[in-house]
Amino acid sequence: MSEPIAFINEEFVPAHEAKIPILEPTFTKSDVVYDTISSTDNLIFRLDDHLDRFENSCDSMQINPPYNRKEIATIIATCADKTGYEDTCITIMGTRGPYKDITSRDPRTCQNGLIAVAMPYYYVIPKEKAQKGVNLSIVDNKRVPSESVDARIKNFNWMDLTRGLLEAYDKGGDSAILCTPDGKVSEGPGFNIWLAKDGHLKTPKGNLLEGITRKTIFELASEIGLNATETEVYPEELREADEAFTSTTAGAIAAVVEIDGKPLGNGAPGLLTGRLNDLYWNKRKDGWHGTPVKSLLT
Ligand code: PLP
Repeated sequence: MSEPIAFINEEFVPAHEAKIPILEPTFTKSDVVYDTISSTDNLIFRLDDHLDRFENSCDSMQINPPYNRKEIATIIATCADKTGYEDTCITIMGTRGPYKDITSRDPRTCQNGLIAVAMPYYYVIPKEKAQKGVNLSIVDNKRVPSESVDARIKNFNWMDLTRGLLEAYDKGGDSAILCTPDGKVSEGPGFNIWLAKDGHLKTPKGNLLEGITRKTIFELASEIGLNATETEVYPEELREADEAFTSTTAGAIAAVVEIDGKPLGNGAPGLLTGRLNDLYWNKRKDGWHGTPVKSLLT
């Protein structure tokens, strides 16, 4: 039988049995950092990049999970292996953990933890939509400024992103693009955004999560001789692009065919987008940046 599996309190359990106490700041204050990794054909994609980012997120929040890098890699692989799925998304969370004394509420006294959960590979933007091309709304809700919540630390402080997503749904969009308070394109709820204009690729820089898939797109673009830059991007440039697409671990690349309900480019998934998507999946099938799940099991 295949089922989602979690690692919690030093045990591997069916995910529906994994629970966290309601008094923990992990829950009450979203005091937790995380990373989401994928495996396809039992190969974990870019494990070291994800672990580097996770370690950076933990360090930035002074969270010290009680396992070293090698042990975390083994926990990730064991969760994936125990699910019985060949294609998974695995989320690891560095948690603040319980207060030593519930009446003092000093985060420095908490006992930090590590939770992991592996589930079948999923799509931030549903697969059927991603294949046909999606309609993204550039919403009025703004991304929290990086001076307040640093988006490069992968976190669950999702109020801005969730409000943006709900606004997009209200406006008939499939998902949202949020801008910074000063009006530059940032990212969406669970993905980075790209545009192509006159054969050049652009992606926003600044207040956003530096996606591992985004990093991958830079490598793929260079491989096929495409110029790709991270730079300031304004909503108008996106509306006037030839193509646009999203990038994320859970679903890879999704073509954008409409912005705010208006056709983008010729209103069909773009050729460069398709080429990058094919290259991404073909290279993953060939084992590119892949670590076999079995090689990490103890
Ligand atoms: N931006 C946000 C807010 C995300 O949550 C994610 C992924 O979860 C991404 C971008 C894409 O990052 P990655 O390619 O590492 O999955």
